[in-house]
Amino acid sequence: MKLFSIFGNPVSHSRSPLMHNSVFKNLNYPACYTRTHLEDGAKLKETFFSLGLSGANVTVPHKEAAFNACDEVRGFAKTVGVVNTLINENGKLIGYNTDADGFMYAIEEFGNIKKILILGAGGTAKALAARFKQESIEVSVINRSEGRLSFFDNLGCQTYTWDTFELSNYDLVVNTTSAGLKDEELPAPKNMILDILASSKYVADAIYGKLTPFLQLAKEKNMHYKDGADMLLGQGVLANEFFVKKALKKNDIKFEMAKSFLL
Ligand code: NDP
Repeated sequence: MKLFSIFGNPVSHSRSPLMHNSVFKNLNYPACYTRTHLEDGAKLKETFFSLGLSGANVTVPHKEAAFNACDEVRGFAKTVGVVNTLINENGKLIGYNTDADGFMYAIEEFGNIKKILILGAGGTAKALAARFKQESIEVSVINRSEGRLSFFDNLGCQTYTWDTFELSNYDLVVNTTSAGLKDEELPAPKNMILDILASSKYVADAIYGKLTPFLQLAKEKNMHYKDGADMLLGQGVLANEFFVKKALKKNDIKFEMAKSFLL
């Protein structure tokens, strides 16, 4: 029996154990997925190996610590310095990032997206912006503070604070801030959000499981919007593929994992 876990702080709210256990149980894969509350990101590696894990996911606020903990980082995670999936490969810790591809899966229903506005400049925004750039999508980023914008400048994004923002037209606006996660805040001043929504075709939020005040406004404007549930599903399916090392079919993983969202 292989053991997997999610590391985070807080971690009790995470749906990952339900998602992955639904796959393992229903597809008879001999594994179990638990959750681990981790205070100190610097202890990630020793905790991972002391628990005897075969793999793990990492959530807020340890994704950058996970990158630093790895013996080897592969693929897109190298570009952004953010790891959300860990694999034990013969005693070595290997890191991947499945968040950005999970989001690309989530926005497939919006069709051809050429221009995106990202609200926020944290770890999720970094992963999405770098992934959008790979697809030659034009990316603008607006954050309440300036400090984190240099990463996006270096990527070739248009960057703004609330004070310097210049409105344009967007195919998609996506909220990657944590505004609305545990409070009822908007990701920017209300008038600015209303202007942005009026200039956007589609709306997405990385937050899942609730209608954020941001999505509430999109709903009131009769816009086509979606929350972060499909992103969560997308990143989970890709992580599970790494966990089972091709022993299960992707479509079967997706089907069983999607079922767990109804629980
Ligand atoms: P970070 O802590 O790295 O970044 C948070 C960002 O939000 C920063 O840009 C911060 O601005 C901004 N922010 C925080 N509070 C406010 C506020 N009240 N008003 C405006 N801006 C604010 O977080 P992550 O990028 O790791 O996660 C962001 C969100 O995405 C979380 O809600 C998380 O749950 C969600 N998420 C969802 C996933 C999914 O699968 N659906 C996957 C990953 C994340 P500043 O720089 O000024 O502090």
